[in-house]
Amino acid sequence: MLMNLFIPGILAVLFSFLNYHPIPGFKSKAEKLAQNFIVLDSHIDLPDRILGRTNNMSIWTEGQFDYEKASSGGLNVAFMSIYVSSSKNGHDAYNHANDLIDLVEKICRSYPYEFAHAYDVADVRTQFHSDRISLPMGMENGSPLNGDLNNLEHFYNRGIRYITLSHFKSNDICDSSTDPEQPHNGLSEFGEKVVRRMNELGIMIDVSHVSDATIEHVLELSYAPVIASHSSCKNFTPEFSRNISNDLIERIAEKEGIIMVNFGNMFQNHEASTNFNKMRQGLDEKQLEPGTVEGDEFMEQFRKEYPIEADIKEVANHIDHIVELVGIDHVGFGSDFDGIGSFVPKGLEDVSKYPNLIDELLKRDYSNEDIKKICGENFLRVWKAVEEVAH
Ligand SMILES: [Zn+2]
Repeated sequence: MLMNLFIPGILAVLFSFLNYHPIPGFKSKAEKLAQNFIVLDSHIDLPDRILGRTNNMSIWTEGQFDYEKASSGGLNVAFMSIYVSSSKNGHDAYNHANDLIDLVEKICRSYPYEFAHAYDVADVRTQFHSDRISLPMGMENGSPLNGDLNNLEHFYNRGIRYITLSHFKSNDICDSSTDPEQPHNGLSEFGEKVVRRMNELGIMIDVSHVSDATIEHVLELSYAPVIASHSSCKNFTPEFSRNISNDLIERIAEKEGIIMVNFGNMFQNHEASTNFNKMRQGLDEKQLEPGTVEGDEFMEQFRKEYPIEADIKEVANHIDHIVELVGIDHVGFGSDFDGIGSFVPKGLEDVSKYPNLIDELLKRDYSNEDIKKICGENFLRVWKAVEEVAH
């Protein structure tokens, strides 16, 4: 009798151990699915992290993305973020974006068997069969346009396939969700032209980072579906303006768009997001920047007192929530790896860990077909629709 209770318990412990400590050569169901399906991540901040450093991307690096980690995690498509900080404007912003694009081109040139550019959905599918990781590009912040619509075409020709209209500060295109200054109440006049031209060229409009009024304005104007490339659900973090409300998730889905769930701890739960907000305030007050010795020390001390933690189950909760609200077709992965520093959930620390998240979804009774959609097919459907509107 006792054994009847005991054996299932031992098996459960054994399975969960094997899940996180796989035996070499043995693949779990989740790992097999990650290898068989296209796994796409719409936001990886590698270029800005390694700009100006020599880094061999084909082997292991200390960062959250490299070829070895990506292939063991089954990652096939990694949108490289061409991230331009709100502190850069005008020609500075334009030049910085071009430098980052040069860097992605250099990676593809230097490691042609590992990485390849992807300019459309067809490239992604072809490269999936050749074991090369596709590196399409999304520009995070519209400031590099430098107020000139012609620059949209320039960046399209250089391979940019989505633009996050703003970053932390409002700009000449639109209001940002994290800026107390909201000069446009949504999109500016120039921003409206940008949205229309993006539709014509086939550049996806990314509403992560922008204010709710901007999202509504974009949804009214855009002929094509829109994406949120790295945001989660405000439902779990009402005070965290980077996440998206239920109402806007529904409206993005009505337009056939997609929410790509951010993995960062601060996006996952109330405690982590409020403590993160407090930490940012502290950094601002002391005029410290993350990534500097003083800034990092401040953050380390702060986190000891005010935890900013989450685990992989919470990321799955955000996926569940979007599915419950709007169905299976409007959710995917937008990790923000290499941009969220050490604020990564337990079990989901870098690009080798997508199988852990897939395993969590399997435990929640998602079918293989559902998982295939979440892993990449949902996003590819949206990208294809944006290409079709342009044509
Ligand atoms: Zn971001």
